[in-house]
Amino acid sequence: MVSAHYRDTQLLIGGTWCDASTGKTLGVYDPATGREIGRVSHASLLDLDHALEAAQEGFLAWRRMPPSERATIMRKAAGHLRARLPEIAPLLTREQGKPLAEARVEILSAAEIIEWFADEGTRIYGRVVPSRNQDSQQIVVKEPIGPVAAFTPWNFPINQLVRKVSAALAAGCSFLVKAPEETPASPAALLQAFVDAGVPPGTVGLVFGDPAEISTYLISHPIIRKVTFTGSTPVGKRIAALAGAHMKPATMELGGHAPVIVAEDADVSLAARTMGAAKFRNAGQVCIAPTRFLVQNSILEKFSRELVAHAEGLNVGNGLLEGTTLGPLANARRVGAMERLMENARDVGADVRTGGERLAGDGNFFAPTVLTNVPLNADVFNEEPFGPIAAIRGFDTLDEALSEANRLPYGLAGFAFTESIKNVHHISRNMEVGMLWINQPPTPSPEMPFGGVKDSGYGSEGGPEAIANYLTTKAITVMAR
Ligand code: NAD
Repeated sequence: MVSAHYRDTQLLIGGTWCDASTGKTLGVYDPATGREIGRVSHASLLDLDHALEAAQEGFLAWRRMPPSERATIMRKAAGHLRARLPEIAPLLTREQGKPLAEARVEILSAAEIIEWFADEGTRIYGRVVPSRNQDSQQIVVKEPIGPVAAFTPWNFPINQLVRKVSAALAAGCSFLVKAPEETPASPAALLQAFVDAGVPPGTVGLVFGDPAEISTYLISHPIIRKVTFTGSTPVGKRIAALAGAHMKPATMELGGHAPVIVAEDADVSLAARTMGAAKFRNAGQVCIAPTRFLVQNSILEKFSRELVAHAEGLNVGNGLLEGTTLGPLANARRVGAMERLMENARDVGADVRTGGERLAGDGNFFAPTVLTNVPLNADVFNEEPFGPIAAIRGFDTLDEALSEANRLPYGLAGFAFTESIKNVHHISRNMEVGMLWINQPPTPSPEMPFGGVKDSGYGSEGGPEAIANYLTTKAITVMAR
């Protein structure tokens, strides 16, 4: 077992790590054992005031720096992250539960994301627009919007944060984040890399505490000019409403319920293998995880058997043990949620092909589960499962599958497997999602847009669109005299 020297996590205010002014802390628990492993500082409103003032000062210093210098600092932060991989990966696994191999991928891909945004930040261009008056010049410039308030969740404590902080910094904004209280050490390690790389004090800030109190205070505060949130749709709607009430633009990366359409002309083994890996990665606590498996009836049994074999081949255990492929759920709430979904699935007549219950012993372990014959009214086919349950049902025609894919208010990720180009076009045109992967696993990259439609939110966290979220447009018209 790899050892992880877990530390208490403080607040990062004005470039300095500090305790909360009240001294208040919250416990942090290891999801594999249920035992407390450390404490995290709980910010008071006074701490938030200090963090806001620091974010304002950080913004003034960071925005003045030429983009190429900002890029150099960001690339240095990516280097620190890579160099600290052996130290940070076990912290991430210890507090969140995912297998070490997944923690390593999350950290290495974070370094790539920082580097991509560092470079993209040097390519923020304005334009010169031909004027109707030959003596005047019309110029459009892009400017950083200002200090950003961010709220990030516990499922990918580094990845969900790095997409936001990298795009904001690349645009020239300062960034104050309320990161997850349940997994505080890995976001702290990420921001430490930026501090050590030389961002001016206050350019990045980190607080923890009462999520509703902090979001209400920060979003309504005049220093904050932009809001970005990743988490559940119900909380996202509250945050978006608050941002709207204060005329702050917002980016919302919310829940999903990703359909997977497997047509009878598909490579069934490819579909089962790639979707099995995507389903059970991070114990299913992934906003883009496949969740509604829609399989053409002629291949339904073959696909179901292969997915069951995949689930039964997983090695469930403490993520710190090399070889573990499925860790515990990140918190006890998720185990309760899985038990409720399973009780309902049994009640409505779904077949439990494997798994279906929590595993005995300490920690938040739940067996990898495959359900078939799942009725449309089963809760698992309507609520985002956010756990290791794969729910399968058959279909006869592609249009029937598409209409089920689009039935829910969510529209984040979607998947399809088919060898027919006609089906590819039909699905591409008609599936209501922000991201669609066909004949392959999900491969989110920094250069591609990342975000949803409908109740899954708005605004992108990848590609040039992500930086655009942190910019304002100024139109300047100058008369030559
Ligand atoms: P939750 O809805 O209580 O919280 C989700 C996240 O929002 C947490 O990080 C929480 O700290 C934060 N939050 C809650 N209230 C807030 C507020 N008023 N202001 C600011 N932040 C606030 O649910 P949970 O039990 O932590 O997670 C369960 C559900 O959340 C899942 O079923 C899933 O739908 C969703 N979720 C989605 C993502 C994602 O990547 N889109 C990530 C984590 C959780």
